[in-house]
Amino acid sequence: MARDVILATEGLTKEFKGFRAVSEVALQVERGTIHALIGPNGAGKTTCFNLLTKFLQPTAGSIRYKERDITGMKPADVARLGLVRSFQISAVFPHFSVMENVRIALQRRHHGDSFDFWRPEKVLRRLNDEALALVEAVGLTEFRDTLAVELSYGRKRALEIATTLALDPEMLLLDEPMAGMGHEDVERTAQLIRRVSKDRTILMVEHNLSVVASLSDRITVLARGQVLAEGDYATVSKDPRVVEAYIGA
Ligand code: ADP
Repeated sequence: MARDVILATEGLTKEFKGFRAVSEVALQVERGTIHALIGPNGAGKTTCFNLLTKFLQPTAGSIRYKERDITGMKPADVARLGLVRSFQISAVFPHFSVMENVRIALQRRHHGDSFDFWRPEKVLRRLNDEALALVEAVGLTEFRDTLAVELSYGRKRALEIATTLALDPEMLLLDEPMAGMGHEDVERTAQLIRRVSKDRTILMVEHNLSVVASLSDRITVLARGQVLAEGDYATVSKDPRVVEAYIGA
């Protein structure tokens, strides 16, 4: 059966003053999967991520999302097509509650950036129901009235995911979703990502290899800007080039 590829790059290259941080990367992400981008420090993961979300322009190569060439597009245009990066596009307001933050994000999707909060009651009630559903989806129901600033680190990230989901992305890019988390938060976030992935495609950069092993359908390993290996965890973790890249890093 033909692979249903939602995001694909060809010859993706980024040079910084002649130094190739990303070199001719061909990446294919299948619709509905959790795909991880891993590799030792300096492998080019962040640069690759910034290229995909259009925060950086490539030196060469192309990016296609849903059969559309998005290489020259701006981040906001790409987000409008349903390819959304978490933790960057969506800001969390520290002194607003969990519910307020999610409502603001929903409001932005439905009504643009207008800060006209006056809406008919029916619309407000619908917005509220939608916000409650999202808060529940990320496991924050009991913290719905807590100010964002008072949440634990892991729960703050769950809130960030909720505000990103408010934009209803078809594909979600997660930049080290578990970074800096304790064991409990890692577990909770892994469950959340699994839940969120049910009707979405996810591409994540993640350092925590046990998380990558348990969550990912497919893994691309980068080293020195190039794709070193690709496959499921069992395959790539046994690949001698991957083992060497990690040990040698
Ligand atoms: P990773 O995320 O895998 O650790 P990066 O994408 O951050 O790797 O970096 C890849 C390489 O590109 C590194 O050698 C880094 O020093 C270099 N690099 C990244 N961004 C820049 C930049 N803005 N200017 C110059 N070099 C950069």
